[in-house]
Amino acid sequence: MLKKTIRDLPAGALQGRRALVRVDFNVPLTDAGEVADDTRLTAALPTLEALAAAGAKVILLSHLGRPKAKPEAKYSLAPVARRLAQLTARPVAFFGETDTEAAVARANATAPGTFLLLENTRFLPGEEANDDALARRFAALGDVFVNDAFGTAHRAHASTEGVARHLKPAVAGLLMQKELDYLGGALEQPKRPFVAILGGSKISGKIDVIEALLPKADAILVGGAMACTFYKAMGLETGTSLVEPDRVEMARDLVERAGTVLILPHDATVAPSIDARARAHAVKKDGIGATEAMLDIGPDTAASYARAILSAKTVVWNGPMGVFEKPPLDAGTLAIARAMAEATKKGATTIVGGGDSAAAIEQAGLADLVSHVSTGGGASLEFLEGKALPGVAILDDLTSRTDS
Ligand code: ADP
Ligand code: MG
Repeated sequence: MLKKTIRDLPAGALQGRRALVRVDFNVPLTDAGEVADDTRLTAALPTLEALAAAGAKVILLSHLGRPKAKPEAKYSLAPVARRLAQLTARPVAFFGETDTEAAVARANATAPGTFLLLENTRFLPGEEANDDALARRFAALGDVFVNDAFGTAHRAHASTEGVARHLKPAVAGLLMQKELDYLGGALEQPKRPFVAILGGSKISGKIDVIEALLPKADAILVGGAMACTFYKAMGLETGTSLVEPDRVEMARDLVERAGTVLILPHDATVAPSIDARARAHAVKKDGIGATEAMLDIGPDTAASYARAILSAKTVVWNGPMGVFEKPPLDAGTLAIARAMAEATKKGATTIVGGGDSAAAIEQAGLADLVSHVSTGGGASLEFLEGKALPGVAILDDLTSRTDS
């Protein structure tokens, strides 16, 4: 279902009005308490600038870290407001309260075209419980609700879902829209061939994605430690590899049902351990030694996966192919990242979802060369599983738009 965005609001709907925006400013901080990585701030700026340019008073809500439903100085958003002020030419104010009458007064008094960031929503007991009274107090902060926090849209919290029950219109921001367009487009109407690459540490975390993609993808290429559980199911020696014994049966069932869609690595890079990675070498899939662990896909597999990616029109990648944090065990992951970039140049739509996969492609310096790197790890995974994200589902449907 398509959702209304800030672009669908009638002309003049924002002039002098309070746009309450749920952003994902959950950024890493340094020990000195400064913003260590401002990617999430710059990602939200197009929405914030568009609202400000339309004359809105832009009121921002976000969580930061995992405070225990009470104020904790180290999780204050104050340093985030300081960094935001460096990234925009517009005035940025910070107020150390969130759901109070004083906060509402500050929101009302905010000058059109400027930003007001309120304190961490997770300082409040009702936030993660999606308390309705808190949701109503959040709703009193705005005249329009905008959700641009894709990364938390899979959680039904007071500032992501509850507030949108009480504050209409409730629309998607531009970052949210981009996520929904890319991920939704890939799942609903992929240009074919549609190839998915799935890796990472655990099959248990990805099983629902495999199930959801099986009927949709032309090929699912498996890498990461996940491949070892499939190997085990096929009766292959897996040595000391990370295998999930309680998922072997499930893996066997999947292999049987998947036919030719599910593709497993035909060679592996193995070593006695991650620490002994200097002794890493490639073996055929049936050549893993009893005292060795598979730590990456092998070079032949990397090359054939790259070829499959280059022949695709839509590619979705979730989960690294190996222990990419420890070179040379990043070789398989890098090969996938490079093939993604090359496929994009040839006109394919390429999407990276998943926290570690996104980190891997950024580490490779290729993030700007693919179509879309999702900002939401867990959220993108749930989206690929075909689940409705509560923070998205509650937004106004585009079809129900009353033409104005
Ligand atoms: P994402 O965040 O992209 O969804 P995951 O969290 O599922 O990915 O998995 C990432 C982790 O999987 C990385 O820390 C990586 O080191 C690990 N991993 C990948 N392949 C292997 C392997 N063969 N053995 C052990 N760990 C692996
Ligand atoms: Mg991860």
